[in-house]
Amino acid sequence: MLSLTISASVFLLVGYYFWYLGRHNDVSFDIRMGERCYSCKEKIPNWNLDFLDKEYLEMCTCCKRDESLDKVIGIKKKTLLNKVKKYLVSNRSRKLTSGLLIALVVFLIVDIISVLFLKMSWPSYVNNLINISFWSVMLYKQRLTTIKKIKLPPPTIV
Ligand SMILES: [Zn+2]
Repeated sequence: MLSLTISASVFLLVGYYFWYLGRHNDVSFDIRMGERCYSCKEKIPNWNLDFLDKEYLEMCTCCKRDESLDKVIGIKKKTLLNKVKKYLVSNRSRKLTSGLLIALVVFLIVDIISVLFLKMSWPSYVNNLINISFWSVMLYKQRLTTIKKIKLPPPTIV
C-alpha cells in the first residue's frame, strides 16, 4: 500500500509538472542574463546588454532591500531562500539534476533486477524517493524560471 501511494504521488508530481509547463512561459534566459531578478522574476530597470557572453544573475532593488532587512532582523530566512533560488536558477544546478537523473536510472535498473531475480522490495522505495526528489527539484526549478502566460483577448471582427 505504501509503495502504491508513493508511486501514485510520483505520477501526480509528473502530471502537475507538465500541466504547469503548459501554462507558463520560460524566462530562464532573461534571468540568467540579468534582465530579470532571480528572486521575484520582475524585470530589472536599466539592464545592461554587456553581460550577454556569460551568466549574470542579478537581484532587483526590492529583493536586495528585503534581504538587507532580513539580515538586520537576524532571521536570514530570505537570504537562505535567495541562495537556494540562485543555485537552482544558475547553470551549476545542472550537476544536481544530472546526478539525480543518473541515480534514478541506476536505481531503476537495480529495482528491476532485485524484483525479478532477488525478490527484494527495498530498492523500489529508494527508486521512488529519488524519483520524487528529482521531480520536486525540477518542479521548483520550473516555478523559479517561468512566468504565467498572459491571455490575450480574442480578436474582435469589425
Ligand atoms: Zn526581485
